[in-house]
Amino acid sequence: MLEAPIVEIFSSIQGEGLLVGRRQIFVRFAGCNLDCNYCDTEDSKSVKNGELKSVDYVVDRINNLKTEDLHSISFTGGEPLLYADFIREVIDRIDTPSFLETNGTFPNEIKKLDNLDYVSLDIKLPEHFDGDYNNKIFDREIESVNILLENSIKVYCKIVLFPESSLDYIEGLALRMSNEINDKDLVSVVIQPVSPISRWKNSKDLLFKFSQAIGKYMDVLTIPQLHKFLEIE
Ligand code: SF4
Repeated sequence: MLEAPIVEIFSSIQGEGLLVGRRQIFVRFAGCNLDCNYCDTEDSKSVKNGELKSVDYVVDRINNLKTEDLHSISFTGGEPLLYADFIREVIDRIDTPSFLETNGTFPNEIKKLDNLDYVSLDIKLPEHFDGDYNNKIFDREIESVNILLENSIKVYCKIVLFPESSLDYIEGLALRMSNEINDKDLVSVVIQPVSPISRWKNSKDLLFKFSQAIGKYMDVLTIPQLHKFLEIE
């Protein structure tokens, strides 16, 4: 019987990305292969913080939390792709659209999830890590995007930007994305200014510059974290 470490399952409003404002049920998995310095789900980074649950348990909880305004089920973490087989089975047993929030570094696992509806895929930056940045991360992210496109799954890329992020680097990244994503017209880039928004107090003009730099090559939107304003989970 398949089991996965779950931190929590709850109903809320999506606060990030292209599905912002949508009512979702969140299934939060424990464990992550990365260690981003801006991570706001610290409690989900370690597998130890999850409780092993079965597919039956997760499906029952989802069914009990359903509301009339429900849009989709968000599989989040931590890194949910550590449990791709488990997620695949849950999706097969629910009748609500599914949404995956991933760091995109497991292309071989994302392949297993051709039953997904929506994906938010992070593009990580060197400044997201206190240690060294592994250049292979970007290659894996793009490989994952291309697999999703091949499977006709709606995917957008999210980049958490810091006021200290390099404009040149971001422009170069957008150029690489436009060259390496197989159908770049199907993929938007969501700039998510790092929270708290007070970090941007003296750098608001930079938000326009980042948007313009990415907009030279890719469709781009800037969306801050709504749930932080609403003070909800
Ligand atoms: S990939 Fe996501 S969950 Fe993992 S450390 Fe980074 S921000 Fe946190």
